Amino acid sequence: MDLFEYQGKEFFAEYGMPVSPGGLAFSVEEAVGVAENLGCPVMVKAQVHTGGRGKAGGVKFAADINDVAEYAEKILGLDISGHVVERLWIEKASDIADEYYVSFTLDRSAKKHLGMLSAEGGVEIEKVAEENPDAIARIWVDPVEGLSEGNCRNWVKEAALPEQAIEGTVEILLKLYKAYVDGDADLVEINPLILTDDGRVHVLDAKVTLDGNSVFRHETYKEFDETQTRDEREKAAHSKGLQYVGLEGEVGVIANGAGLAMSTVDVVNQVGGRPANFLDIGGGANADVMTAALEVINNDPDVKSIFINIFGGITRGEEIANGIIDALDRVEMRSPIVIRLDGTNADEGREILEPHLSQALQLAPTMLTGAEQAVALAKGTKN
Ligand code: GDP
Ligand code: MG
Repeated sequence: MDLFEYQGKEFFAEYGMPVSPGGLAFSVEEAVGVAENLGCPVMVKAQVHTGGRGKAGGVKFAADINDVAEYAEKILGLDISGHVVERLWIEKASDIADEYYVSFTLDRSAKKHLGMLSAEGGVEIEKVAEENPDAIARIWVDPVEGLSEGNCRNWVKEAALPEQAIEGTVEILLKLYKAYVDGDADLVEINPLILTDDGRVHVLDAKVTLDGNSVFRHETYKEFDETQTRDEREKAAHSKGLQYVGLEGEVGVIANGAGLAMSTVDVVNQVGGRPANFLDIGGGANADVMTAALEVINNDPDVKSIFINIFGGITRGEEIANGIIDALDRVEMRSPIVIRLDGTNADEGREILEPHLSQALQLAPTMLTGAEQAVALAKGTKN
Protein backbone atom coordinates (compact mmCIF):
# COMPACT_ATOMS: atom_id res chain seq x y z
CA MET A 1 0.00 0.00 0.00
CA ASP A 2 1.75 3.15 -1.22
CA LEU A 3 1.18 6.45 0.54
CA PHE A 4 1.15 9.88 -1.01
CA GLU A 5 3.89 12.16 0.32
CA TYR A 6 1.46 14.08 2.56
CA GLN A 7 0.14 10.83 4.01
CA GLY A 8 3.70 9.65 4.57
CA LYS A 9 4.43 12.87 6.44
CA GLU A 10 1.26 12.45 8.48
CA PHE A 11 2.49 8.95 9.32
CA PHE A 12 5.97 10.24 10.25
CA ALA A 13 4.51 13.04 12.36
CA GLU A 14 2.59 10.43 14.40
CA TYR A 15 5.97 9.09 15.43
CA GLY A 16 7.29 12.51 16.35
CA MET A 17 9.34 13.37 13.28
CA PRO A 18 9.56 17.03 12.24
CA VAL A 19 7.65 17.82 9.04
CA SER A 20 6.55 21.13 7.54
CA PRO A 21 3.03 22.46 8.06
CA GLY A 22 0.89 22.29 4.96
CA GLY A 23 -2.45 21.50 3.41
CA LEU A 24 -4.03 19.49 0.64
CA ALA A 25 -5.56 21.08 -2.48
CA PHE A 26 -7.54 19.69 -5.39
CA SER A 27 -7.86 22.94 -7.33
CA VAL A 28 -6.00 26.18 -7.96
CA GLU A 29 -8.40 28.03 -5.61
CA GLU A 30 -7.81 25.56 -2.82
CA ALA A 31 -4.06 25.79 -3.37
CA VAL A 32 -4.19 29.58 -3.09
CA GLY A 33 -6.35 29.29 0.03
CA VAL A 34 -3.89 26.94 1.73
CA ALA A 35 -0.94 29.15 0.77
CA GLU A 36 -2.69 32.26 2.15
CA ASN A 37 -3.17 30.52 5.48
CA LEU A 38 0.42 29.28 5.62
CA GLY A 39 2.05 32.44 4.31
CA CYS A 40 4.49 32.40 1.39
CA PRO A 41 6.98 31.17 0.36
CA VAL A 42 5.53 27.70 -0.02
CA MET A 43 6.26 24.58 -2.02
CA VAL A 44 3.64 23.39 -4.52
CA LYS A 45 4.02 19.61 -4.72
CA ALA A 46 2.31 17.06 -6.96
CA GLN A 47 0.91 14.11 -4.99
CA VAL A 48 1.34 10.94 -7.02
CA HIS A 49 2.40 7.40 -6.21
CA THR A 50 5.75 7.75 -7.94
CA GLY A 51 9.08 9.45 -7.35
CA GLY A 52 11.07 11.88 -9.47
CA ARG A 53 8.37 14.53 -9.23
CA GLY A 54 10.88 17.35 -8.96
CA LYS A 55 12.56 16.45 -12.24
CA ALA A 56 9.18 16.14 -13.95
CA GLY A 57 8.20 19.67 -12.94
CA GLY A 58 5.88 18.52 -10.17
CA VAL A 59 7.64 20.31 -7.29
CA LYS A 60 7.89 24.11 -7.37
CA PHE A 61 9.02 26.84 -5.01
CA ALA A 62 6.38 29.60 -4.93
CA ALA A 63 7.63 32.94 -3.64
CA ASP A 64 4.19 34.58 -3.64
CA ILE A 65 0.50 33.89 -4.23
CA ASN A 66 0.79 34.56 -7.98
CA ASP A 67 3.41 31.82 -8.20
CA VAL A 68 1.16 29.47 -6.25
CA ALA A 69 -1.71 29.99 -8.69
CA GLU A 70 0.58 29.64 -11.70
CA TYR A 71 2.27 26.44 -10.48
CA ALA A 72 -0.94 24.86 -9.19
CA GLU A 73 -2.49 25.42 -12.63
CA LYS A 74 0.55 23.86 -14.32
CA ILE A 75 0.95 20.87 -12.02
CA LEU A 76 -2.69 19.79 -11.73
CA GLY A 77 -3.33 17.40 -14.61
CA LEU A 78 0.40 16.91 -15.25
CA ASP A 79 1.35 13.36 -16.22
CA ILE A 80 4.27 12.08 -14.12
CA SER A 81 5.40 8.63 -15.32
CA GLY A 82 1.82 7.68 -16.15
CA HIS A 83 0.33 9.18 -12.97
CA VAL A 84 -1.94 12.16 -13.55
CA VAL A 85 -1.78 14.75 -10.78
CA GLU A 86 -5.13 15.27 -9.08
CA ARG A 87 -4.01 16.52 -5.70
CA LEU A 88 -1.42 19.00 -4.50
CA TRP A 89 0.35 19.33 -1.20
CA ILE A 90 1.15 22.94 -0.35
CA GLU A 91 3.69 23.29 2.44
CA LYS A 92 5.73 26.00 4.07
CA ALA A 93 9.05 26.21 2.20
CA SER A 94 12.22 25.32 4.09
CA ASP A 95 15.71 26.78 3.70
CA ILE A 96 18.04 23.97 2.75
CA ALA A 97 21.67 23.95 3.91
CA ASP A 98 22.30 20.28 3.16
CA GLU A 99 20.41 17.22 1.86
CA TYR A 100 20.65 13.59 3.04
CA TYR A 101 19.04 10.27 2.26
CA VAL A 102 17.70 7.65 4.67
CA SER A 103 15.56 4.55 4.31
CA PHE A 104 14.58 1.29 5.98
CA THR A 105 13.41 -1.77 4.16
CA LEU A 106 13.55 -5.54 4.63
CA ASP A 107 16.54 -7.47 3.36
CA ARG A 108 14.92 -10.86 2.91
CA SER A 109 18.12 -12.78 2.20
CA ALA A 110 19.80 -11.39 5.32
CA LYS A 111 16.57 -11.85 7.32
CA LYS A 112 17.21 -8.40 8.74
CA HIS A 113 16.02 -4.85 8.30
CA LEU A 114 18.29 -2.84 6.05
CA GLY A 115 18.89 0.83 6.76
CA MET A 116 20.59 3.06 4.22
CA LEU A 117 21.96 6.49 5.00
CA SER A 118 23.82 8.88 2.76
CA ALA A 119 25.18 12.39 2.96
CA GLU A 120 24.35 12.66 -0.73
CA GLY A 121 20.61 13.19 -0.60
CA GLY A 122 18.17 14.97 -2.83
CA VAL A 123 19.25 13.01 -5.90
CA GLU A 124 18.12 9.57 -7.01
CA ILE A 125 19.61 7.01 -4.65
CA GLU A 126 19.98 4.54 -7.54
CA LYS A 127 22.35 7.03 -9.13
CA VAL A 128 24.39 7.38 -5.94
CA ALA A 129 24.50 3.59 -5.61
CA GLU A 130 25.83 3.32 -9.15
CA GLU A 131 28.27 6.20 -9.28
CA ASN A 132 29.47 6.42 -5.71
CA PRO A 133 28.41 3.29 -3.79
CA ASP A 134 30.68 4.11 -0.85
CA ALA A 135 28.56 7.19 -0.18
CA ILE A 136 25.78 4.95 1.15
CA ALA A 137 26.27 3.63 4.69
CA ARG A 138 24.29 0.46 5.26
CA ILE A 139 23.21 -1.07 8.53
CA TRP A 140 21.52 -4.42 9.06
CA VAL A 141 19.23 -4.47 12.05
CA ASP A 142 18.30 -7.72 13.75
CA PRO A 143 14.55 -7.38 14.31
CA VAL A 144 14.82 -9.03 17.72
CA GLU A 145 17.66 -6.82 18.95
CA GLY A 146 16.34 -3.62 17.42
CA LEU A 147 18.24 -0.41 16.74
CA SER A 148 20.02 1.41 19.57
CA GLU A 149 21.12 5.01 19.85
CA GLY A 150 24.72 3.78 19.80
CA ASN A 151 24.10 1.95 16.51
CA CYS A 152 22.69 5.16 15.05
CA ARG A 153 25.66 7.27 16.17
CA ASN A 154 28.13 4.91 14.51
CA TRP A 155 25.96 4.75 11.43
CA VAL A 156 25.73 8.53 11.07
CA LYS A 157 29.51 8.78 11.46
CA GLU A 158 30.05 6.12 8.83
CA ALA A 159 27.84 8.10 6.46
CA ALA A 160 30.04 11.14 7.20
CA LEU A 161 27.21 13.50 8.00
CA PRO A 162 28.48 16.89 9.19
CA GLU A 163 28.81 17.53 12.92
CA GLN A 164 25.79 19.88 13.14
CA ALA A 165 23.48 17.25 11.65
CA ILE A 166 24.42 14.35 13.93
CA GLU A 167 22.11 14.88 16.94
CA GLY A 168 19.02 15.65 14.88
CA THR A 169 19.64 12.77 12.51
CA VAL A 170 20.17 10.21 15.28
CA GLU A 171 16.86 11.28 16.79
CA ILE A 172 15.07 10.92 13.45
CA LEU A 173 16.68 7.55 12.69
CA LEU A 174 15.35 6.11 15.95
CA LYS A 175 11.86 7.47 15.28
CA LEU A 176 11.92 6.35 11.67
CA TYR A 177 12.88 2.82 12.69
CA LYS A 178 10.07 2.76 15.24
CA ALA A 179 7.60 3.99 12.60
CA TYR A 180 8.84 1.34 10.17
CA VAL A 181 8.47 -1.52 12.66
CA ASP A 182 5.42 -0.49 14.73
CA GLY A 183 3.67 0.90 11.66
CA ASP A 184 4.03 -2.37 9.70
CA ALA A 185 5.82 -0.63 6.84
CA ASP A 186 7.61 -2.42 4.01
CA LEU A 187 9.54 0.72 3.12
CA VAL A 188 10.15 4.12 4.66
CA GLU A 189 12.32 6.60 2.80
CA ILE A 190 13.19 10.25 3.38
CA ASN A 191 14.90 11.91 0.42
CA PRO A 192 15.85 14.55 1.17
CA LEU A 193 16.24 14.68 4.89
CA ILE A 194 17.58 18.20 5.27
CA LEU A 195 19.68 20.33 7.51
CA THR A 196 18.04 23.76 7.58
CA ASP A 197 19.93 27.05 7.55
CA ASP A 198 19.22 27.37 11.27
CA GLY A 199 20.65 23.92 12.06
CA ARG A 200 17.54 21.71 12.37
CA VAL A 201 17.27 18.27 10.79
CA HIS A 202 13.92 18.07 9.04
CA VAL A 203 11.86 15.72 6.84
CA LEU A 204 11.28 17.21 3.37
CA ASP A 205 9.97 14.23 1.40
CA ALA A 206 8.31 10.95 2.42
CA LYS A 207 8.01 7.69 0.58
CA VAL A 208 6.15 5.05 2.57
CA THR A 209 4.84 1.63 1.62
CA LEU A 210 2.70 -0.03 4.28
CA ASP A 211 1.85 -3.69 4.51
CA GLY A 212 -1.67 -3.86 3.08
CA ASN A 213 -2.40 -6.89 5.25
CA SER A 214 -1.92 -4.84 8.42
CA VAL A 215 -4.87 -2.51 7.80
CA PHE A 216 -6.94 -4.37 10.40
CA ARG A 217 -4.37 -3.47 13.05
CA HIS A 218 -4.34 0.25 12.30
CA GLU A 219 -7.57 2.23 12.39
CA THR A 220 -6.06 5.14 10.44
CA TYR A 221 -4.88 3.01 7.48
CA LYS A 222 -8.40 2.74 6.06
CA GLU A 223 -8.02 6.26 4.73
CA PHE A 224 -4.72 5.30 3.05
CA ASP A 225 -6.31 2.19 1.59
CA GLU A 226 -9.05 4.26 -0.04
CA THR A 227 -6.60 6.44 -1.97
CA GLN A 228 -4.68 3.56 -3.58
CA THR A 229 -4.34 3.82 -7.33
CA ARG A 230 -5.01 0.34 -8.62
CA ASP A 231 -3.13 -1.01 -11.59
CA GLU A 232 -5.40 -1.09 -14.69
CA ARG A 233 -4.06 -4.54 -15.57
CA GLU A 234 -4.93 -5.80 -12.09
CA LYS A 235 -8.45 -4.41 -12.35
CA ALA A 236 -8.94 -6.21 -15.68
CA ALA A 237 -7.48 -9.46 -14.37
CA HIS A 238 -9.52 -9.44 -11.17
CA SER A 239 -12.71 -8.79 -13.13
CA LYS A 240 -11.91 -12.02 -15.02
CA GLY A 241 -11.39 -13.83 -11.72
CA LEU A 242 -7.63 -14.25 -12.18
CA GLN A 243 -5.03 -14.12 -9.42
CA TYR A 244 -2.83 -11.43 -10.94
CA VAL A 245 -0.23 -9.00 -9.64
CA GLY A 246 1.23 -6.45 -12.05
CA LEU A 247 5.02 -6.07 -12.06
CA GLU A 248 7.33 -3.85 -14.08
CA GLY A 249 9.13 -6.16 -16.49
CA GLU A 250 8.75 -7.49 -20.02
CA VAL A 251 8.21 -11.23 -19.59
CA GLY A 252 4.54 -12.13 -19.12
CA VAL A 253 4.11 -15.09 -16.77
CA ILE A 254 1.30 -17.64 -16.62
CA ALA A 255 1.51 -20.60 -14.24
CA ASN A 256 -0.83 -22.92 -12.41
CA GLY A 257 -0.71 -22.66 -8.65
CA ALA A 258 0.53 -19.70 -6.62
CA GLY A 259 3.72 -21.51 -5.61
CA LEU A 260 4.69 -22.34 -9.17
CA ALA A 261 3.73 -18.83 -10.33
CA MET A 262 6.01 -17.30 -7.69
CA SER A 263 8.84 -19.67 -8.59
CA THR A 264 8.37 -18.73 -12.24
CA VAL A 265 8.68 -15.04 -11.42
CA ASP A 266 11.85 -15.87 -9.46
CA VAL A 267 13.40 -17.97 -12.20
CA VAL A 268 12.75 -15.27 -14.81
CA ASN A 269 14.63 -12.89 -12.53
CA GLN A 270 17.35 -15.46 -11.92
CA VAL A 271 18.18 -15.75 -15.62
CA GLY A 272 18.41 -11.98 -15.98
CA GLY A 273 14.87 -11.12 -17.10
CA ARG A 274 12.15 -9.04 -15.54
CA PRO A 275 8.68 -10.52 -15.06
CA ALA A 276 5.76 -8.34 -16.18
CA ASN A 277 3.39 -10.00 -13.76
CA PHE A 278 2.48 -12.82 -11.43
CA LEU A 279 -0.49 -14.80 -12.74
CA ASP A 280 -1.87 -17.98 -11.23
CA ILE A 281 -4.55 -19.61 -13.37
CA GLY A 282 -5.32 -22.07 -10.59
CA GLY A 283 -6.11 -25.74 -10.87
CA GLY A 284 -7.99 -25.87 -14.16
CA ALA A 285 -6.36 -24.70 -17.36
CA ASN A 286 -9.28 -24.79 -19.75
CA ALA A 287 -9.61 -22.59 -22.82
CA ASP A 288 -11.71 -19.95 -21.02
CA VAL A 289 -9.21 -19.42 -18.23
CA MET A 290 -6.26 -19.53 -20.63
CA THR A 291 -7.99 -17.04 -22.96
CA ALA A 292 -8.62 -14.66 -20.07
CA ALA A 293 -5.00 -14.96 -18.94
CA LEU A 294 -3.58 -14.39 -22.43
CA GLU A 295 -5.88 -11.41 -23.00
CA VAL A 296 -4.74 -9.68 -19.83
CA ILE A 297 -1.07 -10.24 -20.65
CA ASN A 298 -1.54 -9.31 -24.30
CA ASN A 299 -3.00 -5.95 -23.23
CA ASP A 300 0.10 -5.09 -21.22
CA PRO A 301 2.12 -2.89 -23.61
CA ASP A 302 5.40 -3.68 -21.83
CA VAL A 303 5.19 -7.41 -22.46
CA LYS A 304 7.70 -8.67 -25.05
CA SER A 305 7.43 -12.41 -24.49
CA ILE A 306 5.29 -14.84 -22.50
CA PHE A 307 6.31 -17.80 -20.43
CA ILE A 308 3.54 -20.34 -19.73
CA ASN A 309 4.75 -22.68 -17.03
CA ILE A 310 2.33 -25.52 -16.27
CA PHE A 311 2.72 -28.55 -14.08
CA GLY A 312 -0.14 -30.99 -14.66
CA GLY A 313 -1.56 -32.53 -11.53
CA ILE A 314 -5.23 -33.34 -11.47
CA THR A 315 -5.44 -31.30 -14.68
CA ARG A 316 -3.91 -33.47 -17.38
CA GLY A 317 -1.37 -32.38 -19.98
CA GLU A 318 -3.65 -32.87 -22.97
CA GLU A 319 -6.40 -30.73 -21.42
CA ILE A 320 -3.88 -27.98 -20.83
CA ALA A 321 -2.49 -28.22 -24.37
CA ASN A 322 -5.97 -28.12 -25.88
CA GLY A 323 -6.83 -25.17 -23.67
CA ILE A 324 -3.79 -23.27 -24.93
CA ILE A 325 -4.48 -24.07 -28.60
CA ASP A 326 -8.14 -23.03 -28.26
CA ALA A 327 -7.17 -19.82 -26.49
CA LEU A 328 -4.66 -18.94 -29.21
CA ASP A 329 -7.46 -19.25 -31.77
CA ARG A 330 -9.39 -16.63 -29.84
CA VAL A 331 -6.64 -14.14 -28.98
CA GLU A 332 -4.37 -12.51 -31.53
CA MET A 333 -1.08 -12.50 -29.65
CA ARG A 334 1.47 -9.68 -29.96
CA SER A 335 4.33 -11.57 -28.32
CA PRO A 336 5.99 -14.96 -28.73
CA ILE A 337 5.13 -17.67 -26.21
CA VAL A 338 7.33 -20.27 -24.56
CA ILE A 339 5.54 -23.21 -22.95
CA ARG A 340 6.95 -25.56 -20.39
CA LEU A 341 4.57 -28.43 -19.77
CA ASP A 342 5.31 -31.11 -17.24
CA GLY A 343 3.51 -33.46 -14.85
CA THR A 344 0.53 -35.70 -15.58
CA ASN A 345 0.29 -36.68 -19.27
CA ALA A 346 2.86 -34.08 -20.26
CA ASP A 347 3.96 -36.16 -23.26
CA GLU A 348 0.41 -36.29 -24.60
CA GLY A 349 0.11 -32.55 -24.13
CA ARG A 350 3.37 -31.83 -25.94
CA GLU A 351 2.26 -34.02 -28.83
CA ILE A 352 -0.86 -31.88 -29.22
CA LEU A 353 1.23 -28.71 -29.21
CA GLU A 354 3.86 -30.08 -31.63
CA PRO A 355 2.11 -29.24 -34.96
CA HIS A 356 1.44 -25.67 -33.79
CA LEU A 357 5.03 -24.84 -32.88
CA SER A 358 6.77 -21.93 -34.59
CA GLN A 359 8.99 -18.97 -33.70
CA ALA A 360 5.95 -17.53 -31.96
CA LEU A 361 5.09 -20.68 -30.01
CA GLN A 362 7.96 -22.63 -28.56
CA LEU A 363 8.24 -25.58 -26.22
CA ALA A 364 10.87 -25.75 -23.50
CA PRO A 365 12.05 -28.96 -21.85
CA THR A 366 12.49 -27.47 -18.37
CA MET A 367 11.41 -24.49 -16.31
CA LEU A 368 14.93 -23.04 -16.37
CA THR A 369 15.40 -23.34 -20.14
CA GLY A 370 11.86 -22.05 -20.65
CA ALA A 371 12.68 -18.95 -18.62
CA GLU A 372 15.92 -18.51 -20.57
CA GLN A 373 14.11 -18.79 -23.91
CA ALA A 374 11.43 -16.30 -22.84
CA VAL A 375 13.99 -13.83 -21.50
CA ALA A 376 16.07 -14.09 -24.68
CA LEU A 377 12.95 -13.42 -26.75
CA ALA A 378 12.06 -10.42 -24.59
CA LYS A 379 15.55 -9.03 -25.07
CA GLY A 380 15.47 -9.77 -28.79
CA THR A 381 18.71 -11.72 -28.56
CA LYS A 382 17.24 -14.92 -29.96
CA ASN A 383 14.08 -15.94 -31.76
P1 GDP B 1 10.79 14.14 -5.57
O1 GDP B 1 11.44 14.83 -6.73
O2 GDP B 1 9.57 13.38 -5.98
O3 GDP B 1 11.73 13.30 -4.80
O4 GDP B 1 10.25 15.31 -4.61
P2 GDP B 1 10.93 16.02 -3.34
O5 GDP B 1 9.88 16.23 -2.32
O6 GDP B 1 12.13 15.29 -2.90
O7 GDP B 1 11.32 17.44 -3.92
C1 GDP B 1 12.29 17.55 -4.94
C2 GDP B 1 13.32 18.60 -4.58
O8 GDP B 1 12.69 19.85 -4.38
C3 GDP B 1 14.03 18.33 -3.27
O9 GDP B 1 15.14 17.46 -3.44
C4 GDP B 1 14.47 19.70 -2.87
O10 GDP B 1 15.71 20.02 -3.48
C5 GDP B 1 13.39 20.61 -3.43
N1 GDP B 1 12.50 21.02 -2.33
C6 GDP B 1 11.49 20.33 -1.77
N2 GDP B 1 10.96 21.00 -0.74
C7 GDP B 1 11.65 22.15 -0.62
C8 GDP B 1 11.60 23.26 0.29
O11 GDP B 1 10.81 23.34 1.23
N3 GDP B 1 12.50 24.27 0.06
C9 GDP B 1 13.40 24.22 -0.95
N4 GDP B 1 14.24 25.25 -1.08
N5 GDP B 1 13.49 23.20 -1.81
C10 GDP B 1 12.63 22.17 -1.65
MG1 MG C 1 12.43 13.20 -2.99
